[in-house]
Parts: sequence; structure tokens; C-alpha cells
Amino acid sequence: MFYHETENLPRPDLERLQAERLRRTLEIAKRSPFYAGRLAEAKVRPEDIKTIDDIRRLPFTTKDDLRANYPDGMLARPIEDFVRLHVSSGTTGTPTAVYYTQRDLDSWASLVARCMHSTGMRRSDVFQNMSGYGLFTGGLGMHYGAERLGCLTIPAGAGNSKRQLKLLQDFKVTCVHIIPSYALHFAGFLDQEGVDRNSLSLRIALIGAEPHTEQARLRVEELLRVKAYNSYGLTEMNGPGVAFECVEQSGMHVWEDAFVAEIIDPATGEWVEPGETGELVMTNLDREGMPLIRYRTRDLTSFIPGQCACGRTHRRLERIAGRADDMLIVKGVNIYPMQIEQALLATPEVGQNYLIELYREGYIDQLRVKVEIKDEYFVEDMRALQGLQKKITARLRDEILITPRVELVQHDSIPKSQGKAQRVVDLREG
Ligand code: AMP
Ligand code: ZN
Repeated sequence: MFYHETENLPRPDLERLQAERLRRTLEIAKRSPFYAGRLAEAKVRPEDIKTIDDIRRLPFTTKDDLRANYPDGMLARPIEDFVRLHVSSGTTGTPTAVYYTQRDLDSWASLVARCMHSTGMRRSDVFQNMSGYGLFTGGLGMHYGAERLGCLTIPAGAGNSKRQLKLLQDFKVTCVHIIPSYALHFAGFLDQEGVDRNSLSLRIALIGAEPHTEQARLRVEELLRVKAYNSYGLTEMNGPGVAFECVEQSGMHVWEDAFVAEIIDPATGEWVEPGETGELVMTNLDREGMPLIRYRTRDLTSFIPGQCACGRTHRRLERIAGRADDMLIVKGVNIYPMQIEQALLATPEVGQNYLIELYREGYIDQLRVKVEIKDEYFVEDMRALQGLQKKITARLRDEILITPRVELVQHDSIPKSQGKAQRVVDLREG
């Protein structure tokens, strides 16, 4: 059941299925106020899609479109048909919301279950989800996928290494979902506690939600004695379960019966050649409540040419190489520098200049914000300055959802660049 019948369909059949589902998706999307207008403008009707390549005739959808139509302008059904929503992190001012019908949730859970199955997870596995729950899709998304597969599923949530370890031991956990930076940190904690890895039952770690290198994966595998599989997803396309490594660990299969993946030159919008890096553009083929068409993910990657040794015909994505915009990912949370700027500049004591520094403490990425304070507030009184520092830290935490280190500095002490301001410095290595 979890090796889906489409997974090794010959490409022509798979692409025919995609074209059919794209036509159906356009029929559905047309019912939303946003796409009714957008598709009419583009003068494309569902029946104009003859082959999947005709997707190029459709307009793109951007994060700004989602924001402009917040909260419910993209819905293709009446609000009472929806049973869940998630809100994506990392947006200034207006967030973006994704709504799901019960059928959409079922489809999502099945996709995640297929991903898990392709890594070798089975219903006999005990699965501990060590990612945050709440609005972040990595919580409930992975959770329902694992239950769908039939695993005993433990909603551990993020952090609290001591408790995580106890759960791992007490329930003989075999598979975990964990963000890569926390996995490395957690391995350090296991060393500290003197935990013999052979006393654990762990065999698989699903790692994702943030960019990481092959070296980081190898380190997770070595330090936790597991096989680690890269998991890619984004809230706009449900959440996790969009692209996933199979046991071959040679790129992430996109479930092409449920999505159309395209890779474009971000400047021209045209397709790039297989193997060439560009921006990933995704279309839902199996969502009835809020399908998105040609969504610009801003993630940079490439298609891996050729077929995977596992026999699946669904194409594979290379590791995410970066972003086409300035979004940062720290501790799995998306942050735009503009969010930080907005919070700082809304604080009267803050001067004109600031600097965002990313650095690494152990294996964990940290964020430091150096903030210039106006002369009249940069006083000798330590207590006043500490109070101000606390206030700015709290404001930033409210905005970006993680706690940065805040350093107050004197007016004019941050070097100014010629021309475009350099607001972000990345001090992380590797
Ligand atoms: P969110 O919608 O908050 O879950 O964030 C989605 C974003 O997280 C994606 O657009 C990527 O930038 C990033 N992301 C998710 N999974 C991965 C992964 N496996 N590797 C690199 N970046 C990832
Ligand atoms: Zn494969």
C-alpha cells in the first residue's frame, strides 16, 4: 500500500497522469477568487493543457500573492469545508496561511507515509517526532504520516534533550525526525551523558527543514549510528512529504503524481537544463481546498539526471543549495532580515544601523544582532542599558520566534558599506 502504484510508472504514463490532474486542479483553482482572476487574465483554460509541458503557459504564484490574498482569498471551497490550517514562519507583517480539507490531510499523510516507507521505515518501527508541533508543519505533518504508516508514534516535540533521551530509551525508539543542527547537538548531549549508542534501538533519522551539507548528514549518521535521510517540504505545498530520499540516498524523489516540479532561471522564468541549478517551482496536483499553481519556492536546486537505482521513476532533486531571496534559516525557523529591521526600527532608542551575524556554537546556529543605539540613550547607567537590551531581545523574539543575542553598540560604530548596505554576515563554516 505504501509503495504507491505510480512510483515506477513509465515516464510517459506518469506525465499523462500529471496533465490530467493538472486539468482537474485548474478546474478546482478557478473557484478561488484569486485564480479566477489570474487564470482569466492569462487566458488559459483547463482544456488547453494537452501535455504537462503546457504548464509553462500558466502564470506563477508568489509568496506576495499569498500575502496579498491573506487570509482566505486562495480558497477554492467554502470555509466550512476546511478542517485545519497552518501558518508559515518567516514572514514580515502578513503571514501566509495554508488551509486543508479532510481529504487534503489524508492525501498529505499518505504522501509522508510513502516517504517514510521509501527510507525503509515500516509499521513495526517506533517513531519519535523531535520537531516542534504547533503551526510548524514538521510536527503534525510527520506525525500523521507515521501513524498512517502504522508506526507507534511519539509526539515528543522539540528540545529538552534529557526527556528526548528517556523516551528513546523507554520506548525503544527506532526512527526519529529531527532537524540536522539539533541532531548534532543531541549527539553531543548523548556523549556528555555517556550513553552507549548500542544501548539504543535507533536506526533511521529523517532530517530536514533546514539546509545542510552531505558532511553534516555523514556526521549525524556516525554520531547517532543511524541512516539519515534528507526530507524537503514547505508549508505552501502541505509541509513535509514533498521530496524525500529513498534508501539509495542519492537525491530526493519528488512525488510527481501529487506535484509538478519545475526548475527555472529565477531571472527569466524559463526552464533550465537537467543538472543545472535554478529555482524550484511547485504545483499541487492532489489538493482540493487550496491548490497552488506554479508556486515560486525561492529554493535553489537542480534535477538529478537519470533514473534512481531503486526503480522509482519520479525525478530527484539535488540538496537545496540556497535561496533566491535573502531568507535565513536558523534552528529550522525561517527568518527574513526585514523582519528584524522592522522590529528594530520600531524601537525609538535604536539608531540607523544594525548588523545581523550568523555564527555557530557547537553545532547549533545562532543569531547575533548588533544594534546601534542613539547617543542620548547610550548612557553610563548599566541597568538602563540592560533593560533596553532585554526589551529589544523580547521584541525580536516576538517577531522571529527565536531568541537572538542582542549587543548594543554606540552610534556610528558599525562600519558602513559603500552602496548597498551589508546587513547580514555569515560566520558559519561548512
Ligand atoms: P516552512 O514552510 O516553514 O516549513 O519552510 C520551508 C522552507 O524550509 C523551504 O522553502 C526551504 O527553504 C527550507 N527547507 C525545508 N526542508 C529543507 C531541506 N531538506 N533542505 C534545505 N532546506 C529545507
Ligand atoms: Zn530512489
